[in-house]
Amino acid sequence: MASKVLIDMIKLREFLSRNPEETLPEGLFYPYLNINGLKTIRELAIFRYTCRRCKEAPCIDVCPSDALEKDETGIITRHTNLCVSCKSCVTICPFGTIMTDFFTHQRNRDLLYDLNDEKELKKFVEASPEGTVIITDAGESPEKNIYSLNDRILIREYMYPSEKE
Ligand code: SF4
Ligand code: SF4
Repeated sequence: MASKVLIDMIKLREFLSRNPEETLPEGLFYPYLNINGLKTIRELAIFRYTCRRCKEAPCIDVCPSDALEKDETGIITRHTNLCVSCKSCVTICPFGTIMTDFFTHQRNRDLLYDLNDEKELKKFVEASPEGTVIITDAGESPEKNIYSLNDRILIREYMYPSEKE
């Protein structure tokens, strides 16, 4: 089995709560020519796994630019071309789903790593807080709170019941 990247959202959140001023490095799987409009792996993971999929999502209601949209499964997408980085959604989310550094890091090219490049992948692991990003041959393991985001990325996150049903 090819190696995968395991991003531990639980440890990352703990790190950010201890170090609120820190900006985390971000892994990407595509070129980042338009760095203002990119989607990081962490953003995809947050909306797929961390978000509780509220029935009446306050984040969507509060967004001043209609940048957040929910699909039929309850997963939210942020339209980066509409988002004005006001962070109202961060403030209003009752579950602290959206990490506070979510919007500022995306403009710092020095913190972006192309995970298609083995050297960059190694640098990404080294730049991440200790133990939060690892290379592994393991697979999905729900009993350990580990889930596949795609064929290269594993996410460790607590899964809460969704409100969508
Ligand atoms: S308010 Fe928070 S938990 Fe609820 S849908 Fe929005 S981001 Fe998800
Ligand atoms: S940061 Fe502001 S504009 Fe962007 S998605 Fe959140 S509420 Fe909407």
